[in-house]
Formats: sequence, C-alpha cells, structure tokens
Amino acid sequence: MKGLMMDYNLTVDRILLRAEKMFPEQEIVSRLANGSIHRYKYGEFFSRTIKLMNALRALGVKPGDRVATFAWNSYRHMEIYFAVPALGAVLHTLNIRLFPEQLVYIVNHAKDKLIFVDKSLSGMLAAQEPHFKGVQNYIVMDDLHAEPAASLPNTLDYEAILSAGKDTIEFPTIEEGTAAGMCYTSGTTGEPKGVLYSHRSIFLHAMGISMTDSLAISNRDVILPVVPMFHVMSWGIPFACCLTGAKPVYPGAQLIGKPIAELLEKERVTIAAGVPTIWNVLLQHLQKETHDLSSLKTMVVGGSAAPRSMIEAYEKKFGVSILHAWGMTETSPLGTVSRLKKHMDTWSEDEKYKVRAKQGMAVPLVEVKIVDDENKDLPWDGSSSGELLVRGPWIASSYYNAETPDGNAAFTKDGWFRTGDVATIDSNGFMEITDRKKDLIKTRGEWISSVEMENIIMSYAGVLEAAVVGRPDEVRGEAPVAFVVATAEKKGTLDAKGIHDLLSEKFAHWQIPKLSDIRFIDAVPKTSVGKFDKKVLRKQV
Ligand code: ADP
Repeated sequence: MKGLMMDYNLTVDRILLRAEKMFPEQEIVSRLANGSIHRYKYGEFFSRTIKLMNALRALGVKPGDRVATFAWNSYRHMEIYFAVPALGAVLHTLNIRLFPEQLVYIVNHAKDKLIFVDKSLSGMLAAQEPHFKGVQNYIVMDDLHAEPAASLPNTLDYEAILSAGKDTIEFPTIEEGTAAGMCYTSGTTGEPKGVLYSHRSIFLHAMGISMTDSLAISNRDVILPVVPMFHVMSWGIPFACCLTGAKPVYPGAQLIGKPIAELLEKERVTIAAGVPTIWNVLLQHLQKETHDLSSLKTMVVGGSAAPRSMIEAYEKKFGVSILHAWGMTETSPLGTVSRLKKHMDTWSEDEKYKVRAKQGMAVPLVEVKIVDDENKDLPWDGSSSGELLVRGPWIASSYYNAETPDGNAAFTKDGWFRTGDVATIDSNGFMEITDRKKDLIKTRGEWISSVEMENIIMSYAGVLEAAVVGRPDEVRGEAPVAFVVATAEKKGTLDAKGIHDLLSEKFAHWQIPKLSDIRFIDAVPKTSVGKFDKKVLRKQV
C-alpha cells in the first residue's frame, strides 16, 4: 500500500549520530582506578568511537562477530558500547565477578573474538586465558591502576589502536533485527544462559526507559549507573543517555558508600541506578557522614526487591525518592516500574509506601500476566499469585544456542516468556513479586513468601540484611530459616526473640522460623551482581 510511513531501521549507529549532532557540548564523566576524574564531551566521544570502530574493522572484526568487554563502568566502555554494534558486530559484556569456570564457559560458548579488558582486571582474565578458545586479541585499557597489566597473549593497547584508527564515518547497512549486544544471565538459579539484544530492542528499550512515567531520563539529567555495564547493558542507560543527551557519570570500581556519595554530591547527580545492596551500603554511610544529595530526584532500585524499610528511610531521612523497578537479563531489563498513579495522590502514607514497595506497572510495550500451574490466567486482584509471564519487543524469544533440548522451555508456544518469578497483580495493574519459584518455601503444604518475610525482618531496627531459605523439616515439610545481619552499631546485641515477635504479628505461628532458626551471620553471601545467593545458604541448612 502506498502512502505509508518510512521503513526506518532502528539501529544503534543512529543513536550515536544523534548524540553527536544534538549534544556535542554535553559532558561524560568517569572516575578512574586512581580516583581521578576523567571528563570529556559527546563531541569527542563520537570521534573516538568512530576511530575505534575503524580500528576494529582493521583488526578484521566482521558483522556478527562477538567482541567482549571485561571492564568497569567508564567512558571507554561506553565507546565500545557503540563502536561494536555500529560495525554490525555483537557487544558481549562479560561479568567480571563470575566464577572462573562460568567465565570460561561463556567466552567459549559465545566464541568471543576480541576481549577489551581494564588494566586493573587483566590479572583476573589472565588467570583463565589458557582455557579460552579462539580469542584473537586482548585490548588493554589503562584505567590508571597502580599495578602493571598482567601478561596476556596478543595484547594491544586501547589508545594505540584508537589513534591509528581512521576517522571516516562509514557504517555498514544493518537490519534492525540483527544482534547488537549479548549478556549471559548471572546464574542465580542455574547455568548462565545467553541473551541476544537486537538493534531494534536496544533502541526501543532506550526510548522505553526514558519515558516520563518510566525512569524519566532527559537532557537535563545527570545519571549515575552504579549497575555495572557488564550486567544487562547497565540497564540500557548508556543508550538512553545518547538518545536524550543526558550526562552519564561512570563510577569505575569503587562502589561502596563514601565514593558513591561523593560522586552523587559533586556531580549533582539527578538519577542513580543500582541493586538494593549498593543502596543499603550507601544508607549506612549517609547515617554517619553528611552529604548534600539535594540534586538527586530518583534512585532507581531493581534486580532484587527494594524493602519498604529502605524506601522509607531514604525518603524520611534524606529526602531521596526511591523508584522500584523490576527486570531480568531476558527483558533488556526494564519490565515494570512502581510510580504512583494520579488517583493515588489522596491515599494514606501507608498505602502509598505499600504500592511503591511493589515492583509496579508494566512499562509501555511490555505486557504482563500471571498464570496458575495449568497455565490459566489468574485475576488481577492483588492476592491470586502465580507465575509471571511477559512479552514485548525487548523480551528475548529464546536463549542463544541453548544446549539442552529443554533449554528454551521458558518460552511458550504462544509467544510469552515464563519468568520463573511468582507474583500478584492488583486491580491497578501493579505487580508484586512474592518469590522466585525456586526460592519458595512450602510449610505444611502452604507457600511462604521468603521475600515478604525478609522485608519484615529488614524493617526491624538494627537489621542490615536478611535472607530466608527453607530447610527440610519432618513435621512441616519445609521450615524457614532466617539469616540475619546486624548493622555495625547493633552487631552482637540483636535478639532473635524481638524478630520472632515481629514476625508473629504478620505470619501464622507455624510459618515463622523457630528461635534457633533465626541465625545471625556477618554478611549474606552475594551473587556476582550483588543479589542474595540463596544457593549457598540452602547448602548450609
Ligand atoms: P539472574 O537471573 O541470574 O539473577 P537477572 O538479573 O536476570 O539475573 O535476574 C532477574 C531476576 O531478579 C528476576 O527474575 C527477579 O527474580 C529478580 N528481580 C529483579 N528485579 C527485582 C525486584 N525489583 N524485586 C524482586 N526481584 C527482582
């Protein structure tokens, strides 16, 4: 039919071109390994990215090749984020905290051709290098770490190849459905699985996260992605920055309280994004040292449940508004965001916090539903709970080269992705995760939400973290065991009885951990991306 709209490919090179044309004056800030701050502007970022793209071409990188990174968040990592897809190749971000055997598995499974590595991380990579098959070159980025680079074969220097790169702006013609990026799941519940992002999915997701009722990213924003660039494309923030002209502030390797607080304060950050563990550590720091956080309008929290106690503490003590979001590697990641709807303005404070502690409404272009064990749709009544299914243009349709026949069992025939999360959805469309299927605890034939129990324990004064897992129990089938970490001030003085009493107010007596099953530990073991590692705790019980 004539008279229709243009066939305009949604590709990453177009996001890059827009950044150069529209925002050459905007700054990009990075903290390097020696603590110094690197600053330059989108104009320079663009010309360096073009040179890098041409340098990669000269190294023989072809469309479809996998080019990996093993690096912290920085301006160079952002250059690679654009140079690789602009060439039609696939950016594969390697998780620097994976177990060695998982790293080896991933590099070989993805068949990475080149690996960019921060000098400070070269030792970790060099230890596994003999097991990598088919890596042609290692390109070392000098992040100003004091230690010299570890010895790797066929090494090249990032700045050397970049300065030899041509500055001709010539992008290959790329179909929007081609792969631009890939990331493996962090393996919280099993072997890592590869997810491929297309140019189109990255483009649409960048628009999706920028929308006002979503993460609301604009040219006026200064964004601190604490979420690593090796985890789900840093939640798409580098792409959204280029699209909108927002100023990114990359924190490098120091992600503990004080260095993050200093960046927030000095760079006048407006949006910060990370997992709850990071913000919990920052909260402890802010209680000891004063920082001016008046510029910060939104702290995006996702990856694990943001406890209501944390949302309240930030708001009441520091005037910082937490925005709770949910997503997965398979969902690019943004799926839902918990922003209050207009009609909720008149609700009580308690009701509002309850809603904000939920994972929230599906963002535009993402659809959600919950189903029972027979795959029948469940009502959106806020109490029926079942497995959460999602679909949309930035949701994976299969895993990359899944090796087992049932490797793609999570993708239904009628086009939905089974998340493995158990959730409710209320009449306002707000989704709440009650658990991961594998973390549910069945006591006397009834499911207990470990997440709900953890949130209640974490609201107890002096509790820093709590993780609840099931242990086999002759009478109850499974019984919950609560691992509790006290804050530095309360260490050694917290009493299990107080926590037990608090739980009694919310749960039936047979659902509550026995006093001896409320165990105090120094820290909850964490996965590579900072989530509670329940596999480790389960082994202990
Ligand atoms: P992995 O699957 O290896 O943990 P992902 O980052 O893909 O790596 O994890 C996605 C999972 O993280 C989701 O399925 C969900 O269980 C959990 N998750 C993400 N965001 C939230 C949230 N806001 N609240 C609770 N759980 C969350």
